[in-house]
Amino acid sequence: MAGILYVVGTPIGNLEDMSYRAIETLRWVDFIAAEDTRVTLKLLNHFEIKKPMVSYHDHNIREKGEQIIKKLLAGENGAIVTDAGMPCISDPGEDLVKLCAQNGVEVKVVPGPSAAVSALALSGLNTSKFVFEGFLTTNKSGRYEALENLKRETRTLIFYEAPHKLRDTLADMYKVLGNRKISLARELTKIYEEVNRTTLEQAIALYQEKNPKGEYVLVVEGACLNDGEEQFTQEQAVEMVLALSEKGVPLSQAAKDVARQTGFKKGELYKTAVEHMD
Ligand code: SAM
Repeated sequence: MAGILYVVGTPIGNLEDMSYRAIETLRWVDFIAAEDTRVTLKLLNHFEIKKPMVSYHDHNIREKGEQIIKKLLAGENGAIVTDAGMPCISDPGEDLVKLCAQNGVEVKVVPGPSAAVSALALSGLNTSKFVFEGFLTTNKSGRYEALENLKRETRTLIFYEAPHKLRDTLADMYKVLGNRKISLARELTKIYEEVNRTTLEQAIALYQEKNPKGEYVLVVEGACLNDGEEQFTQEQAVEMVLALSEKGVPLSQAAKDVARQTGFKKGELYKTAVEHMD
């Protein structure tokens, strides 16, 4: 009979957040698939757990995934952990769970902390509906496109960010989303835990004076489409573009202005307006 894979959440900073069940599971399984075996060894040493480990990270997912599945199919029980938090959440694990599903291997969860949900809970923003975006791409145009796609999203937005990219990310968010409320959750559960509930404009000013340090989750207010802001249908937006163009405004400029005013994508407005003109 095939073994079971346990997806085990580990602390995001404070070792005391390790659950009893996580410790028991890591003691009980036959092997542990770990993102960075050196990081996990420290965790295992702390809880006096001795267990064979298999390195499983973004760059060996396919090859190691097959090896792990073979072990599970041969009847071994295994666990997957990452450096911090829940596996599969901006961390390795998703592929392994898919492989297990394809091979009929049972997967169970031993839930632990996740920085995204922890930051959301502390944000003071709307927690009833939210969107998790993980890390924005480092590619400039890709980032703008991702943010443009979120411009009309009314649910609270959650992003992970590295300190060296924080300034650029805040500036890009401000440019595309406008001045919204943001909660910056830093170093959660660690000594320098801090939550700054502010606005994008104020956050940009703050980090002009201060160097971003540590791990951040950015929780950004969703779009307030009903807060006095007029809502437009795409048809109305295209008509506005055509009207501007008739007044002599170049079409691409008209599409840009109306996109800013209505939240629709400039490219889409431009394309549809051209189709109407043909
Ligand atoms: N799987 C993890 C989870 O469930 O939270 C996330 C792993 S992801 C590779 C690492 C990112 O999570 C960091 O860059 C940061 O954005 C966020 N993060 C992790 N630990 C954090 C902490 N203690 N405080 C704030 N953000 C944290």
